Amino acid sequence: MVCIEKIYSVSALVGNGACNAKCDFCAGEYLRPEARESELYNKNFEAAIKLSARYGGWSLSLTSSGEPTCDPDALTKALEIYQKCEQQGAYFPNVNLFTNGILFGDSIFCNKYLDTWKELGLNNIAVSVHAVDEKEQAAIYGVESYPALEKIVDNIEKHGLGVRATLLLRKNGVDDSKTYEAAVKGLIDKRIDNITSWPVGNPDGTRTEDTPSRLGLLGIKMWLHRNAKMCHGHAWGGGVFDYKGNILRITDYVTKHNPRKDFVRQLVVFQDGTVAYSWIKEGALCMK
Ligand code: SF4
Repeated sequence: MVCIEKIYSVSALVGNGACNAKCDFCAGEYLRPEARESELYNKNFEAAIKLSARYGGWSLSLTSSGEPTCDPDALTKALEIYQKCEQQGAYFPNVNLFTNGILFGDSIFCNKYLDTWKELGLNNIAVSVHAVDEKEQAAIYGVESYPALEKIVDNIEKHGLGVRATLLLRKNGVDDSKTYEAAVKGLIDKRIDNITSWPVGNPDGTRTEDTPSRLGLLGIKMWLHRNAKMCHGHAWGGGVFDYKGNILRITDYVTKHNPRKDFVRQLVVFQDGTVAYSWIKEGALCMK
């Protein structure tokens, strides 16, 4: 029997599941019926933060079955819970909000919320990027227009928060070494210098028709090894690279929990209050 030695992070679903985009394939839709606040959720969210912090965790990710910024009060509430944990010693150096970025193009929205969220412990905003070109980005998100990425960066940095990109690897988009290199360079030109990528897929980790070919993905990994210096590997696969002073991270969308390993990539806090050792709940229950 193997004991858990390390729980690297916590990912929590936050808010009512509303979204301001209309993607053809929505990764969060299947979780939306659970999206409501409950005391059990708040209690287990707090317990998950404290558990991970005790097991050496260093990052908290706030996400949603929709777009978290569409329910800003729920985000504030989640960050208040985090701040309480932090004051009791459960501190994470990385507190990241995952977003489609649309509302961060609006400086009124940013002025209204970002100082409060920063005060409560948020330190980075990770914008999901399907295409560096804003017209293509708008088409994938199913919206009329998508804000200029430079504007998003300005609006966020003005409040002292960091901007990251989640550069999604998708067939016919960023799907091989050539398109990956072009996208990375395009994002760096737009002052986004911390970029995480993973191939899109099903919530259970299996491939979809949008997942890039295995050859394309291998090409991206080889490009990273040829052009960047590895800083550290992830126990679950992939790693972090230094590309001319910029951070490039490659990983998988989800990692299935393996009870024979002594680490957990992330505790996932679902909105029915369940905490699991991975996005795939089956065989990975931690708290109810
Ligand atoms: S932005 Fe996310 S939640 Fe909204 S429609 Fe697209 S995939 Fe779904």
